[in-house]
Amino acid sequence: MTRPVPAIVILGNGSLATARSIQQVYPQALIHGLAERVEGADRVYHEFGTTLRELYQQGTPIIALCAAGIVIRTLAPLLLEKGAEPPVLVVAEDGSAVVPLLGGLGGVNVMAREIAAALEVAAAITTSGELRFGTCLLNPPSGYALGDLELGKRFVSDLLAGERVRIEGDAPWLAQAQLPEDAQARLAVHVSHAERTPAANELLIYPRNVVVAVDAGLANVAGAVREALHQAKIAVQSLACLLAADSEMASPELREAALELGVPLRFASAEGGLGERLRLAIDESVSLHGDDTLSIAIAGHPLDPLQIGRPRGRLAVIGLGPGAAELMVPAVKAELARATDVLGYETYVRMAGPFRADQVLHCTDNREEMQRARHAFELAAQGRSVVVVSSGDPGVFAMAAAVLEALHESTDAAWHRVDLEVLPGVSASLATAAQAGAPLGHDFCVLSLSDNLKPWSIIEKRLDLAAQADLALAFYNPISRSRPWQLGQALDIVRRHRAPQTPVVLGRDIGRPGQTLRVLTLGQLTPDQVDMRTMVLIGSSTTCVFPRAGGREWVYTPRWYGTKPGC
Ligand code: SAH
Repeated sequence: MTRPVPAIVILGNGSLATARSIQQVYPQALIHGLAERVEGADRVYHEFGTTLRELYQQGTPIIALCAAGIVIRTLAPLLLEKGAEPPVLVVAEDGSAVVPLLGGLGGVNVMAREIAAALEVAAAITTSGELRFGTCLLNPPSGYALGDLELGKRFVSDLLAGERVRIEGDAPWLAQAQLPEDAQARLAVHVSHAERTPAANELLIYPRNVVVAVDAGLANVAGAVREALHQAKIAVQSLACLLAADSEMASPELREAALELGVPLRFASAEGGLGERLRLAIDESVSLHGDDTLSIAIAGHPLDPLQIGRPRGRLAVIGLGPGAAELMVPAVKAELARATDVLGYETYVRMAGPFRADQVLHCTDNREEMQRARHAFELAAQGRSVVVVSSGDPGVFAMAAAVLEALHESTDAAWHRVDLEVLPGVSASLATAAQAGAPLGHDFCVLSLSDNLKPWSIIEKRLDLAAQADLALAFYNPISRSRPWQLGQALDIVRRHRAPQTPVVLGRDIGRPGQTLRVLTLGQLTPDQVDMRTMVLIGSSTTCVFPRAGGREWVYTPRWYGTKPGC
């Protein structure tokens, strides 16, 4: 069963060798290196604190190669908030110490031992129960769920105080533990899917060996599942997943029910009855209870939900922002981490990386947007988690509209059932404007000067009207080798309405290596100063320029509108 992929965070080149050794233990983990301090990391970050807190909040296990104090201070504000705690470990940069800090119930000690073994040192385990018994009783392996944490803590402290214990049921992982076993003991570890009243002398552990197949037509799905399990005397903690017909993939009721029950939602072909669906999906002998709206299957051992049926496919159309990692929104980073497939123009796919070996990249060199959009749906309809990348914002002259158009045109029900989401990014006009100050601080108009997908006459008309309306202007796709004359013509139109001293901002490769920002006037602007990697911002009649300390200038368009006070 899968565990979340950890992030290895380093502050300097001195830690790189140790980080690489740890990466051997977790081949999918990426090494995050501090910008300008680390060469050759898989991913670059600029702010240690922000990065660490972001990883923690996303539930990513963290292996930090630095002093424990730095990590403790950085995460301290988040520890007051309740919520799931991912494993957090610190490792000395020379690999001489491995210290598990947080996430005892998330398996931090297991990770500490794995890393320590690779570095040939002893892990600094401080958990008494684990030291004494060789396992954390409160953290059963995946496939099993602990009944009650608070009762569990009490149980372990009784054991530590010298009590003995009986093991009832099948607990193979406890075979290697050094538990003080005694058939007559008052304390018992009880492993079973049967519903049982919690008691202080029992540690209840539930194998996740139960699947419930449901019909989306049921009223209150989660309530019905609980009730049916209760009737069958099965503990809800033993539920591994819900199974529904793939025709019901988009049902919000089912999604909410799975969320409420805290289990994955899986899908199988709608043919046949619920019982048959369960038998096919679980692919082994199971015992069944239930009727034609709800059916319960019990397997002989824990089940991996990822092996049952298939998930609802997901398609996220994401915006990377202009290029710099710190301008990428956290939701986009999280989406890239969960993607199984990444589609896009090769330059942008590379910008979105690095990727893990298990992530499939579908780079296209051409500009066949509709074909790419359809390919994305085909993959997502198979249950994969697909990301389509655009630079900037995906809704601004980019892939989001093409993806929606492909869906609108399609009659394939499987495409319409895909979990489709558009995640925004910082668009080039906004990134450029921010660097210049606030040239788009008042009403503005965004135009693409490309006449590949629309007639030039429309562009001329819009330019004329927008310039006449005194809107500040942002030009995307201003010029290219195949469109050499259009920008000159566009500027002629703007100049009919706007004075030569109107401020102009040219941002090239903003947020990328070698970025340039120029401030000039409309009178000085010529097409040869602009290429296809440039953003052109043209001010309105109220746009002002003034010098900034240290050279260069600030550009802004005031929020008010009226006569300009001599900018
Ligand atoms: N979806 C993108 C725009 C795609 S159109 C966004 O929201 O930013 C491509 C045009 O965007 C380019 O021709 C250029 O004019 C502009 N552009 C994109 N990235 C840029 C950057 N980093 N710096 C300056 N201009 C950029």
